[in-house]
Amino acid sequence: MKLFVPIERDAEETRVAASPDSVKKLKALGFDIVVEAGAGTSSRIPDEAFVAAGARIGTAADAKDADVVLKVRRPLPAEISGYKKGAAIIGIMDPYGQDEALQQLAAAGLTAYAMELMPRITRAQVMDVLSSQANLAGYQAVIDAAAVYDRAFPMMMTAAGTVPAARVFVMGAGVAGLQAIATARRLGAIVTATDVRPAAKEQVESLGAKFIAVEDEEFKAAETAGGYAKQMSAQYQQKQAELTASHIAKQDIVITTALIPGRPAPRLITRQMVESMRPGSVIIDLAVERGGNVEGAIPGEIAAVGPAKVVGYLNVSGRIAASASLLYAKNLAAFLETMVDKESGLLKIDLTEELQQATALTHDGKVVHPAFAPAVD
Ligand code: NAD
Repeated sequence: MKLFVPIERDAEETRVAASPDSVKKLKALGFDIVVEAGAGTSSRIPDEAFVAAGARIGTAADAKDADVVLKVRRPLPAEISGYKKGAAIIGIMDPYGQDEALQQLAAAGLTAYAMELMPRITRAQVMDVLSSQANLAGYQAVIDAAAVYDRAFPMMMTAAGTVPAARVFVMGAGVAGLQAIATARRLGAIVTATDVRPAAKEQVESLGAKFIAVEDEEFKAAETAGGYAKQMSAQYQQKQAELTASHIAKQDIVITTALIPGRPAPRLITRQMVESMRPGSVIIDLAVERGGNVEGAIPGEIAAVGPAKVVGYLNVSGRIAASASLLYAKNLAAFLETMVDKESGLLKIDLTEELQQATALTHDGKVVHPAFAPAVD
């Protein structure tokens, strides 16, 4: 069973889909592992570390007879054409609105698994890439905010005078938001947070932040069975905007993380709200890749919007690549472990198995995932 770990071809991508630890684990499962030379460089993993863990170092051409390819991002068309028919390709596939790319994966006879579709059940927690990466992104968002902000975060009482604590407002208190709250608190900021899910209130408060939200009847029913946010009504969004507007004017830093699975990110901050902030305020829009929570956010840039800087960094977990790759590699290895048949020791592609069924996008020439398969008349 040959397993290949390539260099990520996307220029934005700094992570790698294996670590020395995951290589050891996968080798023990019976995989013959080849890592493309230099694949770990941006994650501070030298080739020698992969070799010491039991991998061989190869080239991009090693993809052509690999049974499994571990990726961070969905492969580009040029990569897809280099894979063996029947191979399993596992990565963060970002499948929404990508019908053409899914058709290409299907047409190449690949079984492509999207790690972000992993069910959020207890046994799959170790495979939850949304959590492992969002947690680091939430941390990094605060570090980025502190770097761009021209004032201190903690209150400092010095002989020369008092520096006030920064006021940080976190919008969306899921995995990333909760870590942003915890990190901002550690840096000494005064933190408030909001979310549309009632369950978030207790979590926010347990981290020592104040919860701010429109807590009406719609709010009380705003969580799906899977624990995700629902798309809120226009009336709710209006009430939320009014509350947000008055609060934001008093904040120094705003970190937005609000997402709704499979939909564009909700627009939470208007240009007018940004204009109301103090000079030097900073907004970090972690949802910028999904359309953005903040009006005026530009993907990949720091935009000057009125008195504030709106930071739209892409791939924020990739800005902390050495940590992000370690966790991501662990997520992948844990998933692969469930795919190796205990008796035969061979890779078992079985789309009736719960985790494979939930994550498989394409198989045997077809797009098989019900959320992405073309509609049948
Ligand atoms: P996410 O990335 O989908 O969204 C981020 C946050 O934005 C969510 O908390 C969401 O409620 C919030 N949001 C959406 N629309 C909003 C709006 N208009 N205004 C303000 N906030 C808005 O969420 P996530 O981080 O993936 O977490 C989703 C849920 O899954 C949480 O309940 C989390 O605790 C849960 N979770 C469960 C597991 C598990 O059981 N294994 C693992 C991780 C997360």
